[in-house]
Amino acid sequence: MDRDRILLTPGPLTTTLRTKLAMLRDWGSWDADFNAVTARVRKSLLKIVHGEDSHVVVPLQGSGTFSVEAAVATVVPRDGKILVLDNGAYCKRAARLATLMGRDCAVLPFDDSAAVDPKAVDAKLASDPAITHVILIHCETGAGVQNPLAEVAEVCARRGKGLIVDAMSSFGALPIDAREIRFDALVAASGKCLEGVPGMGFVFVRKAVLEGCAGNSQSLAMDLHDQHVYMEKTGQWRFTPPTHVVVALAEAIAQFEEEGGQPARLARYTDNYRTLIDGMSRLGFMPFLDPAVQAPIIVTFHAPGDSRYDFKTFYAFARAHGFVLYPGKLTQVDTFRVGCIGAIGRHEMEQAVHAVELALQDMGISSGAPAI
Ligand SMILES: *Cc1c(COP(=O)(O)O)cnc(C)c1O
Repeated sequence: MDRDRILLTPGPLTTTLRTKLAMLRDWGSWDADFNAVTARVRKSLLKIVHGEDSHVVVPLQGSGTFSVEAAVATVVPRDGKILVLDNGAYCKRAARLATLMGRDCAVLPFDDSAAVDPKAVDAKLASDPAITHVILIHCETGAGVQNPLAEVAEVCARRGKGLIVDAMSSFGALPIDAREIRFDALVAASGKCLEGVPGMGFVFVRKAVLEGCAGNSQSLAMDLHDQHVYMEKTGQWRFTPPTHVVVALAEAIAQFEEEGGQPARLARYTDNYRTLIDGMSRLGFMPFLDPAVQAPIIVTFHAPGDSRYDFKTFYAFARAHGFVLYPGKLTQVDTFRVGCIGAIGRHEMEQAVHAVELALQDMGISSGAPAI
């Protein structure tokens, strides 16, 4: 089999040939041509979020988590206090990194299968005035829940709290308009819904808070204020840039714009999601989430109840049929996940359902229905 398997994972994900081909050249980090690509990418990113007037965008080397950590350490003063709105694995990761960065950290827990409740956030902020910043994960990739960004942003704005948004798995697909939603920092990365390759993140920082961020970070490499000041002055990245990742992202963004931007991307992913849900239901599978809180990004399914099921074998058979699935991230229930994002459409999702059907047959399982 010399064709790439299709990745039904929330990053890295399947990219177009055009994006892959963009990586076949070498670029010098001092070169004016490369600096022009960086400038173009930054400009396009600000346009996607409608943040040209209110925000700057600071790219950073590394996977998405590097940028979340950098955003927290840069934006939150060392004596600040963070409230993490926790409805899943990525929220817990945010709380852990905030604590490791030495910031005082409180956690407001919600169920894995429920969205964050803005009223509970409001009440928590009222009861603990020491809190200076709130962290919200827009799409909790752990189960696939879409959290109410606009409502939480409204609560934070009204109470005068800074908001840091991890929009890693939603940026580019779900609408986010900086003119209407107030946030201090919003984090995303190259290898998610923009359909670039992994290797860099980027953080939108509100101009009004940027200056006050000098000296907050206790890290040299992850100081976004420093990275921004240097980039503005020189047009260059502070340290060796992930050149191939940047040019691939520029090419991916060009295709994003040609496709019709965020609304077109959301429409394609929603179509992928419906095709997946319909097909999987026909096979007996049951999604874990109520459709009312489900983002069309990644779907968690209950594991089949059949005693012959185990994820590793299922994964191996589906992989042999050309599709890469994703393990579940829930601790209480046995699940697996299927991503709807990447350079794929309805036909690939239909084929994915077929691959799952074949994998069940390979295992001698007649239905995907869960045990309950
Ligand atoms: C992918 C993702 C991240 C970043 O994960 P990395 O493995 O560091 O790329 C962070 N938050 C969310 C919600 C994500 O989906």
